[in-house]
Amino acid sequence: MLGSLLLAGSRSPLARRAVSGLPLTRKVVDRFVAGESAADAVAATRRLTGSGLSVTIDHLGEEVRDPGTAVAAAKAYVSLLEELRPLGLGDRAEVSVKLSAVGQALDPGMALENARQICAAARECGATVTLDMEDHTTVDATLGVLRALREDFPETGVAIQAYLFRSEADCRDLAGSRVRLVKGAYAEPASVAWQSKAEVDRAYVRCLRALMSGTGYPMVATHDDRLIAIAESLAVSAGRGAGDYEFQMLYGIRADRQAALAAAGSRVRVYVPYGDDWYGYFMRRLAERPANVVFFLRALRGK
Ligand code: FAD
Repeated sequence: MLGSLLLAGSRSPLARRAVSGLPLTRKVVDRFVAGESAADAVAATRRLTGSGLSVTIDHLGEEVRDPGTAVAAAKAYVSLLEELRPLGLGDRAEVSVKLSAVGQALDPGMALENARQICAAARECGATVTLDMEDHTTVDATLGVLRALREDFPETGVAIQAYLFRSEADCRDLAGSRVRLVKGAYAEPASVAWQSKAEVDRAYVRCLRALMSGTGYPMVATHDDRLIAIAESLAVSAGRGAGDYEFQMLYGIRADRQAALAAAGSRVRVYVPYGDDWYGYFMRRLAERPANVVFFLRALRGK
């Protein structure tokens, strides 16, 4: 219930103004966001890669409403990748892109062109691009852009949301690609998505099976210990070694678990968001876990 309200709030301009204007919101946001500037993202990248983790960096922003902002978002990625290049991290530092941030809703052709420029800049530094997945109405368009990008940049990956009924079939279709499997973070209707945690978890395992038995590169993005253990055992059954798949978790969430998995020899990538358009991302993180709302309220009360 609280989660649904927060997800509805994540799309409300009124709630955006109210939450963004609250004193101390920034302090709480900092728990989930690496900072506002590219320099902050690079600093987080140095710190995380220095401790044996990989990163995927997200320039925060979504649902842009004018071409200028979409082009600026693509340029932000290109200049971030130029800053990363001297670090020589190769694919240990990749980027994640929301197509809505580079103009998908305005003009799919423009979004594809912007995404192409980001892929080209990523390739220059040996990095890859993963397309985030947004609400269910955008899945076909996102997979269409992915197909077009993969003609020139076959290393491009995509996030697939286990909660959607269609995703098991999508995982089979994409079993030769880089696929990040997530549970799904948007409020979706019962006509298209599993609603209970148990159903979503079961669907996640079915998708995992498809990906692990394919020829692609599964990116297991979850903080859920049970699913992490299942992924490890499916990887062994499929004859995959530690470098043949990876785990992914969000910046600021279960950092101890991220470090422990990496210390045990797994590849672990941290999703590092940065930028000033943090509102939608922040509200989805609150919606995932009521305890985060308590943390938020305590900080607002100065405790
Ligand atoms: P859950 O069942 O939600 O959580 C399992 C446990 O993890 C919880 O008990 C708790 O201990 C911990 N945990 C989970 N979330 C939080 C939190 N916010 N704060 C503190 N602890 C928490 N979703 C999309 O729809 N599209 C995407 O493109 C996308 N990309 C993602 C990329 C990465 C790398 C990751 C890790 C997630 C991404 N997500 C994306 C979000 C995802 O869909 C889930 O909403 C999110 O990961 C929570 O699900 P979970 O698998 O961790 O399991």
